[in-house]
Amino acid sequence: MVFSIERDHMKRGIQTVIVAGIIVAMVLLLSPIFARWWHGPTETPTAPPPVLTVTGQTTIAELIRQTGLELPTLRRALQVPPSTDSAQSLGALGIAPAAAQTRLQRALALRTQEATKNWRKIASKFLLWGIWLTGVVFLLKRRRITPRLRLRLLLLAVAVLVFGIMYGADQSPMGTVKDTLVLWGQHHLLFPPRLIALAVFLLLVILAHKSICGWGCQFGVLQDLLFHLNRDGKSRTGILPQVKLPFAVTNSIRILVVIVTTGLALIWGIDLIEPVNPFTIYNPTHLAITGAVAVGVLLVASLFMYRPWCHLACPFGLLGWLVERFSRQRIRVDYQACVGCGACARACPSMAMQAILHQERVRPDCFACGACVTTCPHQAITFDNQPQMPIPDVTFAPKPAATAITPTDI
Ligand code: SF4
Ligand code: SF4
Repeated sequence: MVFSIERDHMKRGIQTVIVAGIIVAMVLLLSPIFARWWHGPTETPTAPPPVLTVTGQTTIAELIRQTGLELPTLRRALQVPPSTDSAQSLGALGIAPAAAQTRLQRALALRTQEATKNWRKIASKFLLWGIWLTGVVFLLKRRRITPRLRLRLLLLAVAVLVFGIMYGADQSPMGTVKDTLVLWGQHHLLFPPRLIALAVFLLLVILAHKSICGWGCQFGVLQDLLFHLNRDGKSRTGILPQVKLPFAVTNSIRILVVIVTTGLALIWGIDLIEPVNPFTIYNPTHLAITGAVAVGVLLVASLFMYRPWCHLACPFGLLGWLVERFSRQRIRVDYQACVGCGACARACPSMAMQAILHQERVRPDCFACGACVTTCPHQAITFDNQPQMPIPDVTFAPKPAATAITPTDI
């Protein structure tokens, strides 16, 4: 009997790994097809910036030849009057070669940013994100998102397929933070459209908690999907073993990673994340060996731990975690209805629900997945914008269905 149970368990574990492999293969095969389908500019620079040779005798015409910039753009970059003749040299214009070089490199960096953006694709992606998250929040508030629905329909059919495979790696919440820091570190330059995108992502966190991470981020949902594939629908435990690491540990690692990567980006302009950027899985033709190894490790780890990249390294994950405390909509507990059975905390894929239940000061990221909402047999959990009532100073009476557990025991 025991042997047959173990054999069945092993069979389900192998099935999980096979299904996970098929999904990853599907992402790798289909993403390049959709990338070509968009017919837009590449999302990654295809050529390195030109090497400039600038002296006091270099003329505007020569700079046009070296940079490929148009005359009006070059005049603006060098901060000279619109009437400036292209035969004039930098010396005659009173511009030091080093200053000209810096200004031109900034103009070239800005041109690269603009040239690699597919504005039609980005605009429609944000529109779809808005519609999608509005629908998700609507369903969350009405307790309609069961784990099965989340796994079978929402993640696979919409989030991974549409925002990942069809729309690719750009834009992503993580990319807006990382690329802003790197561009500033390399050229002391801000790219306004990216700042707007970052502001929209943070606004979404303020309006609807981390639903953009939980339901819209390409790599976040892929990790989530793999984790849930390895989860028994009834017992809410892993088919293969799963761990919930203490948030103090994961968040300390994340803070350290973000401090190091931000410091290197801002001080030396070094992009430490790009070589291991897991979002490149949606742009696999640009996946180098380091990226492939990082993606492979993270996807395998996702089967055993909830969203390893989000919890251990993502800069937007950390920023969103800081901002989510100002969110209007969030998970709330009705302590009048709560019997302290702990079903919600067990259903939560991370340590978030446990901390919410105890109203701890430091709470792990909540990805607004809704598992706790639909799991509570007493409908004591909601996702809404009502004020949270304080935790009662009473011990709950034991209920027949639960052991004698008080809220502080959960
Ligand atoms: S925390 Fe996770 S879900 Fe959120 S942006 Fe980062 S990778 Fe995406
Ligand atoms: S507390 Fe946990 S289970 Fe509930 S929505 Fe947040 S992440 Fe999901």
